[in-house]
Amino acid sequence: MPDVLVAGAGPTGLMAAFELERAGLDVLVLERDIRASGQSKALALQPRSVELLDDRGLLPAIEPHVLASLPAGHFSGIPIDYTDLPTRFPHQLGVEQAHVEAAIEARLRAPVRRGAAVTAVEQDSEGVTVTAGGRRHRAGWLVATDGGHSTVRTLVGAAFPGTTARTSLVVADVTLAAKPAGLADGWRLPSPGSGFLLPLTGGRYRTVVGGAVVGGAEQLEHDRGAPVTVGELQRALAAAHGPGIEVGEVLWASRFGDAARQLERYRHGRVLFAGDAAHIHLPIGGQGLNLGLQDAVNLGWKLAAQIRGHAPSGLLDSYHDERHPVAARVLVSTRAQAVLGIPDPDAAAVREIITGLLAAPDARRAVAMELSGIGITHPGTAGRATDTPVTPDGRAVLVGAPLPAGWADRVETRDGPRPQLVRPDGFLAWTGGPGLQEALHRWFGAPAERRKPGDMATATGYVRNSN
Ligand SMILES: Cc1cc2nc3c(=O)[nH]c(=O)nc-3n(C[C@H](O)[C@H](O)[C@H](O)COP(=O)(O)OP(=O)(O)OC[C@H]3O[C@@H](n4cnc5c(N)ncnc54)[C@H](O)[C@@H]3O)c2cc1C
Repeated sequence: MPDVLVAGAGPTGLMAAFELERAGLDVLVLERDIRASGQSKALALQPRSVELLDDRGLLPAIEPHVLASLPAGHFSGIPIDYTDLPTRFPHQLGVEQAHVEAAIEARLRAPVRRGAAVTAVEQDSEGVTVTAGGRRHRAGWLVATDGGHSTVRTLVGAAFPGTTARTSLVVADVTLAAKPAGLADGWRLPSPGSGFLLPLTGGRYRTVVGGAVVGGAEQLEHDRGAPVTVGELQRALAAAHGPGIEVGEVLWASRFGDAARQLERYRHGRVLFAGDAAHIHLPIGGQGLNLGLQDAVNLGWKLAAQIRGHAPSGLLDSYHDERHPVAARVLVSTRAQAVLGIPDPDAAAVREIITGLLAAPDARRAVAMELSGIGITHPGTAGRATDTPVTPDGRAVLVGAPLPAGWADRVETRDGPRPQLVRPDGFLAWTGGPGLQEALHRWFGAPAERRKPGDMATATGYVRNSN
């Protein structure tokens, strides 16, 4: 029996499985689709995600597929310079999501079980029973990463408040039979409005067309399930770029909108939600995949500690406490960015003011820290460690200080000039001075000699196993 079932093999589920396996757990990933589609919604990795992928040795397999290294992010198309960010990766990487997924999946010990759509979830005090692809699977925990339309969310009746979509857009990969000279010859940040066009590999181009929050674009007239036609894309691209553009073939297309919702609680008993299953928003500014990867990294070591029986009280629930505010802020940011894109004189006036404000170095830097993920921090931590690689086995790292007895199974020690205690997700739990013991207790539980054989970790702390 695996320790954990993961529902959905998108980037979030794969990263969650990777983190749990890194901590030595047995994981079974259940994926609805029979094969990896190779299609990519996301094309951008933010600096914090690049750090996490690099720390885990996953970046080398992604790098050959990087199409562009962009020295800026954007806020509704307003460039936000990243070059002075305190990171070894002060840029976005332009890379198709499918390559990120493939790089993570290639490193999983257990193969993803495909053609296994989750259709039922039951839980009791000992574990979860999940029906997927007609088979029943039992494990201690379920990580639900089955995307924005999450079946698991519906099955457990999780409240997902927010707003429904008011606009409709199309993302498509196309070939072009003709295009005006100079158009889409390289990677540029998207400008506001319809008709964004970027070159991919193999003669493919990525486009996004569609209506702003208020507007009369053709896409607003279609149902979400309506097929996307060459004619529809041709009309939208010709309106944006002139009659010299001619769409050849539509290789992949999907409709999406600006619905913005977030789970009230990321944990429902033994079911933990992450990625788009936990939060959805307009994909503007390149945030969703990055949120999902970082949810997975925050959750992985906490769930592993819970299963291993050394999680201190409240550690697993700190996953919700730490990650819910991060996604809530992304919903605020993407809502604001959507409003700035409305083709309306009032919105244009606000955009002009915001563009001016973002030219001020402090404002630009604050937005850059947020969009890049570099500025994310959590209560009780001192931000992220910039130069302490994670351990292969998911242990924390203590640098430049002796480790008190009883934590060596959870904390590796290293020499280094600056004392630091680094959580397995890269956040600094202690940075020298008094408080090392408290930090060890807070994040990694009691020292081994204080735990009795048979003690079990619960959601709220240790209980003595009376058997
Ligand atoms: C046009 C567009 C552009 C985007 N650009 C960016 C960008 O540049 N940067 C960025 O960070 N984000 C971007 N995003 C968002 C990003 O693509 C998503 O946030 C990301 O895919 C979320 O990953 P996930 O693993 O949580 O969910 P998903 O990628 O949706 O994966 C969910 C997986 O679960 C599977 N599944 C579904 N139901 C079941 C079931 N019942 N049982 C088992 N498996 C199931 C699905 O088949 C899928 O494999 C963009 C999104 C869109 C639409």
